[in-house]
Amino acid sequence: MTMTGQEALALLEHEDILRLGQAANEMRNRIHGKEIVTFIIDRNINYSNICESECKFCAFYRRKGDKGAYLLPTETILDKVRETVACGGTQVMIQGGLHPDLELSYYTDLLRSIKKIANITIHSFTPTEIVYWSKKSGYSVKEVLLRLQEAGLDSLPGGGAEILVDEIRRRVSPKKIMTDEWLGVMETAHSIGMQSTATMVIGLGETLAQRIEHMEKVKALQEKTGGFRAFITWTYQPGNTELGGEKTSAWDYLRTLATTRLYLDNIKHIQGSWVTTGQNIGQITLGFGANDLGSIMLEENVVRAAGTAYEMSVNKMVRMIEDAGKTAAQRNTEYDILRVFDRKDGR
Ligand code: SF4
Repeated sequence: MTMTGQEALALLEHEDILRLGQAANEMRNRIHGKEIVTFIIDRNINYSNICESECKFCAFYRRKGDKGAYLLPTETILDKVRETVACGGTQVMIQGGLHPDLELSYYTDLLRSIKKIANITIHSFTPTEIVYWSKKSGYSVKEVLLRLQEAGLDSLPGGGAEILVDEIRRRVSPKKIMTDEWLGVMETAHSIGMQSTATMVIGLGETLAQRIEHMEKVKALQEKTGGFRAFITWTYQPGNTELGGEKTSAWDYLRTLATTRLYLDNIKHIQGSWVTTGQNIGQITLGFGANDLGSIMLEENVVRAAGTAYEMSVNKMVRMIEDAGKTAAQRNTEYDILRVFDRKDGR
């Protein structure tokens, strides 16, 4: 029987952390087996940092005309895609902000140009951009998604969710889409066969009950569409942001991660985060319900802008997984395993 939100909240609030981790680990092992931990070779291409949304927790964006504001030339973006393929990458994430001067046709042209030069999965943009382009172009959200899909967009990342409670969103990102719009874009994407991930950012001053409320909304939509492949919890990085504040503790992160595994029983994959928490905590997530460590992150300017720079090669990722007593496997966007790394190959 599936766990209720109330039960999940009781676990998150009161359960002993080791018992919580153990229960999440047992569930992870039942779903995925004990051994394999997956990761993907992909690249985040931050094509521009110009954004109108001005979220208070974001250290990445610049206003148009600000020092350091940029838009990469298309040829530079394509070179980065070529490099990704040369490194064995199977996915690119094109990520930026809400650029006031770029029309939907810029993005459809870009997607077509990428598909022309590379056989690569494009897992890009977020519901925030989709709604922005819908308002700008006058097309419905569905029409925007169909046009992007037709041009080559394969999959939609779950970014921009932060905490799906409007009270929090109004405080930390008042210009950004609200909860229903985020969920609506995801539902529409799933309805046209475009799968996605779902994310949550903790440490924005939300209560534990509001985290559970976020999970409840994602779980209910998943019940309806089945379109979320994975759930990813990130920790807020306060460095260089308007919102400021403190980083949430590893203790809090691990408790939340384990609760997501136990409560979100209709979402298959739980991704552990090493990008915002560091490699050591990344390893510990593998005992707290995570079965995937996401990307080797060939490029991640958004997190780096907040002062957290963890760069990683494939070898380092494999070692991190092996040092946690697991076997590393490269996956694609759909979570199919492409290559299992032999633990005796001297790495
Ligand atoms: S989080 Fe995204 S939408 Fe918000 S300011 Fe940063 S780039 Fe823009």
